[in-house]
Amino acid sequence: LLGPVGFSNLPNQVHKKSLKKGFQFTLMVVGESGLGKSTLVNTLFNTTLYPSKENKEPTTEVPKTVEIQTISADIEENAVKLKLTVIDTPGFGDFVNNEESWRPIFENIEGRYDAYLEQENRVNRKRIVDTRVHACLYFIAPTVHSLKPLDIEFMKRLAHTVNLIPVIAKSDTLTDEEIKIFKNRILEDIAFYKIPIYQPPVHDNDDPETIQENKDIIAKIPFAIVGSDREVEFNGKKVRGRKYPWGVIDVDNEDHCDFVKLRQMLIRTHMEELKEYTNEVLYESFRTQKLAAGAL
Ligand code: GDP
Ligand code: MG
Repeated sequence: LLGPVGFSNLPNQVHKKSLKKGFQFTLMVVGESGLGKSTLVNTLFNTTLYPSKENKEPTTEVPKTVEIQTISADIEENAVKLKLTVIDTPGFGDFVNNEESWRPIFENIEGRYDAYLEQENRVNRKRIVDTRVHACLYFIAPTVHSLKPLDIEFMKRLAHTVNLIPVIAKSDTLTDEEIKIFKNRILEDIAFYKIPIYQPPVHDNDDPETIQENKDIIAKIPFAIVGSDREVEFNGKKVRGRKYPWGVIDVDNEDHCDFVKLRQMLIRTHMEELKEYTNEVLYESFRTQKLAAGAL
């Protein structure tokens, strides 16, 4: 007798509302200077958030501490709007003594949680602005040896506070064999120090296709990436890549590097999941600790 009452249309309503409001995402990038952080951000979002440095004189001024630099951009694709905020951390790892390099970054992330908590506690909670960091890309120098003490320290300190995604920078400077060895060493360290890096969750009740997709992403961690905001010629076509005497690296070719898998996780399949995990697990644990400490 009863027809549908109409709540099956709810996903559609939510979808329309978010479409109108647009989406918002905050990404942090950390790693020594020159590892290709700015280039990768440009490559990921196919924008010029950071002007290319290729023809610029190397800068002689050396900052004294790790700086926190924030850039925002409104980007749009097929009528979907994304407000993207990228937090860069120039100076990290660039000093003689880098022991405390992780601290200003940690404090920045916690400061953003504090600001969110403060908004939640307001009488009027209608217009909460989420400035929390939803993911942190950590750039590992392509050395093949093993992680540096600085890498381990940073990941140990930060992985409980933010979705930490380790990447092997400039992987075009390594051979496939070297990448394999280096990845294994990095994963051994991550396991040894029990560093909870971000991984797409695999739920048994997901459809087999999704499960396989997530497993394929996990298999690539730590992503060996190559960035490029230039076009080069490859097999008679223009591709985004880097040219060498021995050939061309096409960043959008899965056989050449893990860039595509990283972008898939970060932008195409897990952006909302990264935000949910930040809110429900990482921020929640921060909030609980604050409350327990009687800070409110
Ligand atoms: P940042 O200091 O970490 O932001 O590094 P940049 O993005 O400014 O890049 C520093 C230099 O490395 C530039 O000359 C880039 O063209 C180059 N570069 C960036 N990404 C890659 C990469 O994946 N492979 C190689 N070989 N060079 C890269
Ligand atoms: Mg940069």
